[in-house]
Amino acid sequence: MNFLEERIVKDGVVKPGNVLKVDSFLNHQMDIALIEEIGREFKRRFSDKHITKVMTIEASGIGIAAFVAKEFGVPMVFAKKSKSINIDGDMYVAEVESFTHGNKNQVIVSKRFLLPGDHLLIIDDFLANGCALQGLISLAESAGATIEGLGIVIEKGFQLGGKVIRNLGYKLESLAIVDAMDAETGAITFRAQEER
Ligand code: 5GP
Repeated sequence: MNFLEERIVKDGVVKPGNVLKVDSFLNHQMDIALIEEIGREFKRRFSDKHITKVMTIEASGIGIAAFVAKEFGVPMVFAKKSKSINIDGDMYVAEVESFTHGNKNQVIVSKRFLLPGDHLLIIDDFLANGCALQGLISLAESAGATIEGLGIVIEKGFQLGGKVIRNLGYKLESLAIVDAMDAETGAITFRAQEER
């Protein structure tokens, strides 16, 4: 098990409805030493790529993406969730369905901060069905930016997102892939590194 898998086993809680709660260290209270290590690990996995910007989506991606951006020495930009239907022409817009809340959000990013010359590393905390990543990919495409790769902290391998994104041809790196989890026993099974 890697450092993250060990922490998930120690402090993660499996909830009914295929939800893994990691709010004691990742997406509510944050263990900054752990997030720093996550940043270093993404830098290692994408060290062969020329990255000019790290992109994520609010809210829980922000803290993680900040540490990744620090490792690469580049800015971080996050897509904002917007309820407004009056979005002006200065924004790129995409539609994202939320796995945890079950509703649809428009996500926006200013055209000033996503440029055709950008080489992006897209970061998020979880990958489930892939809607959040698809939204971010769509924003990047609208800008004509290049996606160098996508980094996920926890992928739920029994949901379809990972397969869909990899089939699109992107380099997708997940630091932990959960292949099965049981809300009754709390058991969590990770995909072995060599099977990825
Ligand atoms: P997707 O768009 O891939 O279906 O879902 C990804 C988003 O939903 C992530 O940004 C994350 O915030 C949230 N999410 C999905 N599954 C889980 C989960 O098991 N636990 C938590 N805490 N968040 C999740």
